[in-house]
Amino acid sequence: MFVIVKKIRSTQKLVPLVSTLTRQQRCKFSSLPELTKDRYPNVKRGNYGHIDTNHLIFFKDLLGETRVITDESECLGYNTDWIKANRGYSRCVLKPKCTREVAAILKFCNENVLAVCPQGGNTGLVGGSVPVFDEIVLSTSLMNKIVSLDTTSGVLTCEAGCILENLENHLDEHQLMMPLDLGAKGSCQIGGNVSTNAGGLRLLRYGNLQGTVLGLEAVTANGEIIDCLSSLKKDNTGFHLKHLFIGSEGSLGVVTKVSIQCPPKPKAVNLAFLGLQSFDKILTVFKRCKHDLGEIMSSCEAIDADSLAVTTDHLGLKSPLAKFPFYMVIETNGSDNGHDEEKLSRFLEDVMGDGTVEDGVATNEPSKMKAIWELRERITEGLIHDGYVFKYDLSLPLENFYSLVGIMKERVGADAVRVSGYGHVGDGNVHLNVAVKEFSPEVLHKIEPFIYEYTSKLNGSISAEHGIGFRKTKYMHYSKSKEAMDLMRNIKDMMDPKWILNPYKVLPQ
Ligand SMILES: Cc1cc2nc3c(=O)[nH]c(=O)nc-3n(C[C@H](O)[C@H](O)[C@H](O)COP(=O)(O)OP(=O)(O)OC[C@H]3O[C@@H](n4cnc5c(N)ncnc54)[C@H](O)[C@@H]3O)c2cc1C
Repeated sequence: MFVIVKKIRSTQKLVPLVSTLTRQQRCKFSSLPELTKDRYPNVKRGNYGHIDTNHLIFFKDLLGETRVITDESECLGYNTDWIKANRGYSRCVLKPKCTREVAAILKFCNENVLAVCPQGGNTGLVGGSVPVFDEIVLSTSLMNKIVSLDTTSGVLTCEAGCILENLENHLDEHQLMMPLDLGAKGSCQIGGNVSTNAGGLRLLRYGNLQGTVLGLEAVTANGEIIDCLSSLKKDNTGFHLKHLFIGSEGSLGVVTKVSIQCPPKPKAVNLAFLGLQSFDKILTVFKRCKHDLGEIMSSCEAIDADSLAVTTDHLGLKSPLAKFPFYMVIETNGSDNGHDEEKLSRFLEDVMGDGTVEDGVATNEPSKMKAIWELRERITEGLIHDGYVFKYDLSLPLENFYSLVGIMKERVGADAVRVSGYGHVGDGNVHLNVAVKEFSPEVLHKIEPFIYEYTSKLNGSISAEHGIGFRKTKYMHYSKSKEAMDLMRNIKDMMDPKWILNPYKVLPQ
């Protein structure tokens, strides 16, 4: 049955889907992963200095006592990543409030060969945001000021530690919105988003950060401040240095400020949630969506039954549809609700009329849209309740988008609690998850490197949007040529000759 629920014009804010629990609370509520150094014994600590009293005196003189955290239990949340897959043992967390302080910290660390792990909201999913050993954590969470907002051009300039959802709320008052949106918006920071080149739910419509970030300010390993904080849409003067920092995951510098192009907030938002019998039918719907919804389509997501089940079974969410093998979430953003709703209704009548879609609901009522989005956005959270999750974030040709799920089910067999797939089908980006009761090297070997070889053979990418972080460094060659990797290494050598910035991450050791 297809229901267009009551029309409401304004859209209400979605609640933060990654709760704003403190880092300490988050760790308290679930068991700790084993230390990364024990889980991955082949990775050896680099020849970096060890923090001593003199170093701490310098940091406390610079930042004051309260912004230098050394207490073991207070450091725990900064050492442990969101999905409880990686844990370092740093005993020094620094919380600068401005670019000048970041520059002074990095200059000092460089001179003393102290390794540094930049950290934003710590929602990264590839182990990039936490230390591997005892690296100093440089947290940007106190660098959270909005510098300016030009409401005519839509250019927002802010510090790196601003939480994505706070920026969204600020823009909302001016009828603007952030060009990116992800389930982690309640905790992730814009500096982290830029450093991972985060994708998210509406990349299909608003593009990726390489396009929307107009400029940035960053501090390099030796403490030099690189001011590329342009707010111009067009600026072809020399190399586009901002791209060195977008997506380099804190390995080339610490992003301290960002200026970003923000689109107008849509006056009309509509959402459909559909049930389908096969993945092929998802592809049919996506293709028709592009033609029939055209310029108003803002999101096209696919979810399989096992992925949806973690939100209903573990998190107690309610699905508005009966059980189907597959589901889709399709969102439209436009400026005329009558027009958009009519377009969406016609499209849904077509795909349901010919049996491509079995059942569906559509709504523009804020609370109902929020409830549907939660079913998609909280899958990552729900999966953690299965135990340990081997998470993969791949770009694959659309016809192969879902193929790995079946292959993995066969390879891992009864060792898995669940093998599931969902993701941004509109961008060809699948999130494949193998959930097990607890971390097991045997299961890991059944999955890797096979999964990367498979992806490479199909000319896919081993990281669509989460980055390389710690966990994929040795597999980068499946997506990049030797020459490209050599060039990356040369750039790293030039910008950070002592490799103090986020060591053991991104590039293979
Ligand atoms: C529920 C959930 C849903 C998610 N959905 C998506 C999604 O749809 N799309 C997506 O792309 N990702 C998604 N992610 C992953 C994650 O949220 C993103 O990678 C996000 O951009 C990380 O931001 P952060 O502030 O938490 O960064 P962190 O996790 O703190 O850091 C990530 C990386 O960036 C580096 N870094 C952080 N801040 C800086 C800085 N100022 N300067 C230099 N380096 C820095 C860190 O060293 C690390 O390597 C999701 C995560 C969760 C938990």
